[in-house]
Amino acid sequence: MPREAPAISGVTVGSYTIPTDAPEADGTIEWSSTTLVVVEANAGDVTGLGYTYASGAAAIVVRDTLAPLVAGGSAFDVARHHAAMVRAVRNIGRSGIAACAISAVDAALWDLKARLLDLPLAALLGARRERVAIYGSGGFTSYPDRRTIAQFEGWTDLGCRLMKMKVGAEPERDPARMRAVREALPEIGLMIDANGALTPRQALAMAEAAAPLGVVWFEEPVTHDDTAGLAAVRQGLPAGIELAAGEYAYDQWDALRLAAAGCVDVLQLDASRCCGITGFLAAAAVADAHHLPVSAHTAPALHLAPSLAALRLRHVEWFHDHARIEAMLFDGAPQPKDGTIAADPSRPGHGLVFKRQDADAYADA
Ligand SMILES: [Mg+2]
Repeated sequence: MPREAPAISGVTVGSYTIPTDAPEADGTIEWSSTTLVVVEANAGDVTGLGYTYASGAAAIVVRDTLAPLVAGGSAFDVARHHAAMVRAVRNIGRSGIAACAISAVDAALWDLKARLLDLPLAALLGARRERVAIYGSGGFTSYPDRRTIAQFEGWTDLGCRLMKMKVGAEPERDPARMRAVREALPEIGLMIDANGALTPRQALAMAEAAAPLGVVWFEEPVTHDDTAGLAAVRQGLPAGIELAAGEYAYDQWDALRLAAAGCVDVLQLDASRCCGITGFLAAAAVADAHHLPVSAHTAPALHLAPSLAALRLRHVEWFHDHARIEAMLFDGAPQPKDGTIAADPSRPGHGLVFKRQDADAYADA
């Protein structure tokens, strides 16, 4: 029996700034807080939840540009709203803030539709797998070695076998930092992320030091804008180290540029940036067409459902800041088992409920 499509009665947005639990830094920046922009899309008494980690400016784009566009439309026509939102930000500049804003609304619309149909979002999207592997991610350059090691040991307890540390702030210190981790945790697959801090030559020197320590992944050794530099590093890497990038792909065309340039072994994609779950799945199809595996970047609770559905999905990043915030502010945030996460079939949508009262303490003015 056909079901009548409910109308989206409204879209609301709030931003929350949560202090980190210690000073954090990577190869190129330092930070002491994370801003979470939360979108709720309503149809009658059903609420869909979406979010992005971005500037509070993304909340203004949602409020002023995207919410009025979507309100009143069919809660089932997510693709139509996605296309309208992408069109609407043409003169604002799609990449960056606007793409993050679209991402949060798109995720809220997918969640809303799944809740209206009383389905887990992975089932609505079309799941390809039951569970998805996670890898631990933190090891900030601001951490003393003992803190990185303790953090990694915590992820071992979750069953993670792969863990990523930041490098590149002081490249001369990194071999000793990597060695300390390797000696404490001889069994793990070690991943490193320079956040674009290095020149191609510095990156190759880092890889030479990293290879004997069993490093298997080198992320953004040079800036993602330098596709020729990334490609040169990729060509020069020892066979056991993969090059990964893609966290600044704001849509499937950014993903296409990286994939087509032959500069990555693994394409990272971020549904909280690349125009949402719709954009993530489109970009994953681009990766598939280039025979590239996909790794979901940060925001593990948001990535669970699309990662169960996406083509060639290898793993989801269990990023310290976001895993912590999601456990604090979302009831139903995934809990790893044997180094994997899975959707709870009894919970519709993302399976998340926003803990508004707990979040209010962090609300931006
Ligand atoms: Mg990174």
